[in-house]
Amino acid sequence: MKMNSLTAKVVPCSAEPLIFDESLCTGCNRCAEVCQCDILIPSPEKGRHPVVLYPGECYYCGACVMVCQASGAIRLQHPLMNRAKFVPVKPEAVTSGSEKGGNEDE
Ligand code: SF4
Ligand code: SF4
Repeated sequence: MKMNSLTAKVVPCSAEPLIFDESLCTGCNRCAEVCQCDILIPSPEKGRHPVVLYPGECYYCGACVMVCQASGAIRLQHPLMNRAKFVPVKPEAVTSGSEKGGNEDE
């Protein structure tokens, strides 16, 4: 019986949510199995890391990283705009409107 073959193309996207280390990845596909968004498919090459088919659909939940047993084989790379860091404001840096010359509308 003739088997149908499936092909899939990676959807182009500026996001690159997952970084794999090929030297550490065993190609077990645990990460692909756990992904709730199904953005990963097993590599056609045995022993290689999964293919990120829909990078723009990643939720950045981290499940794929947590399930990986090969430490360092996969890591998340959050979008630049989500890498904000909030720092406490120093009291001396906060000046009242009158100290700065006041608001002309008041
Ligand atoms: S990144 Fe980890 S979980 Fe995913 S295939 Fe490689 S070893 Fe397996
Ligand atoms: S971070 Fe979550 S949504 Fe993104 S690839 Fe990993 S498991 Fe899937």
